[in-house]
Amino acid sequence: MTATAPVTQDVLTIPRKLPQTGRQNLVGLTRAQLRDALIAAGTPETQARMRTGQIWQWIYQKGVREFEAMTNLAKTYRAELAEKFTIELPEVVSRQVSADGTRKYLVRIAGGHEVETVYIPEAERGTLCISSQVGCTLTCSFCHTGTQKLVRNLTAAEIVGQIMLARDDLGEWPEPGVGTGEAGPRLLSNIVLMGMGEPLYNFEAVRDAMKIAMDPEGISLSRRRITLSTSGVVPEIARTAEEIGCLLAVSFHATTDEIRDTLVPINKKWDIATLLDALRDYPRLSNSERITFEYVMLKGVNDSDADARRLVNLIRGIPAKINLIPFNEWPGAPYERSDWDRIEAFADIVYKTGYASPVRTPRGEDIMAACGQLKSATERARKSKAQIAVETGIEAG
Ligand code: SAH
Ligand code: SF4
Repeated sequence: MTATAPVTQDVLTIPRKLPQTGRQNLVGLTRAQLRDALIAAGTPETQARMRTGQIWQWIYQKGVREFEAMTNLAKTYRAELAEKFTIELPEVVSRQVSADGTRKYLVRIAGGHEVETVYIPEAERGTLCISSQVGCTLTCSFCHTGTQKLVRNLTAAEIVGQIMLARDDLGEWPEPGVGTGEAGPRLLSNIVLMGMGEPLYNFEAVRDAMKIAMDPEGISLSRRRITLSTSGVVPEIARTAEEIGCLLAVSFHATTDEIRDTLVPINKKWDIATLLDALRDYPRLSNSERITFEYVMLKGVNDSDADARRLVNLIRGIPAKINLIPFNEWPGAPYERSDWDRIEAFADIVYKTGYASPVRTPRGEDIMAACGQLKSATERARKSKAQIAVETGIEAG
């Protein structure tokens, strides 16, 4: 990759082709959309709010997938719902478990394309790394996802569906009569939007899915346990705080525009100074809600002592933590991981200026589940447009 790398790649955008069952999937609808759908299907307006609440709890609190099991609804109503609606998740095609316990799910979405979801267990928490797009239109030169040529935005159903299918796999829905499973730390306690795709290029679907995940009558994750990572889509940054309210991480990765242009080409559109201005204005910023600056350690590219000093100077005044990510290699990657003593020296400089500088331990490397290694269906990128057309049912363009 050179400084002339484009901001976005020449991708084939796959339209969303949803299954033609005639029945509408209730997963992924906001409360307001669910209410509207129930009314359109004949639920009296006077009952709509109550029915919305009941169905919501069955789906998101109890993990129920059949209307038949919704025992606080009249039998005839349950049958009517089953005629018009479904409760559907994307399909898990395969599950790999790493030696360190990390689980990687290959998830098939409507149209036959695939994304990856990664579950990372730790002592005090369990983090699910979810994808927001098939592939990514951006071309960060160190990221495997950025080389995938097919791109489609996920729907809200497909985004929140990743959380639900992980809970299925972890057995984390309450059993009938056993309570809500609130005792002890949750297996799935945190969400990071750090899988495939740029979440701020799919803002509405990401927002709706996160609202569902935060709803106290459902999955009920605190907004402070959700972190959205962006490469720096400046115009959407303030909206992230206002409309989602989650924590923010930024793929910073360089301390000069010259280098950042080559690593994170969106920098040519919104440069370091513009990005930092947007971050300084990020609403809700405080010592307890700091911005995470992600910094991938690339040997000889961005890992010098001078880089470490420039980094802390740049972000001065912003409540921040710096997350150093040892580069995760992938086949054909044009970079190498910085040596450990270099990473430690860099972390030390950052730490001495008063910033937390944890080094992210690579997890699930043996199953290519680590940051930036995700690229589902590598072979799909090589498929012809004609093959894709057959699979997705769309005209070859
Ligand atoms: N598109 C978003 C979120 C997904 S990437 C973004 O770019 O922020 C999640 C994090 O992994 C980002 O900080 C990304 O820069 C980093 N990353 C990408 N490829 C990597 C690799 N090969 N090794 C280590 N980190 C990588
Ligand atoms: Fe896309 Fe993020 Fe990868 Fe860049 S690092 S190509 S924005 S997924």
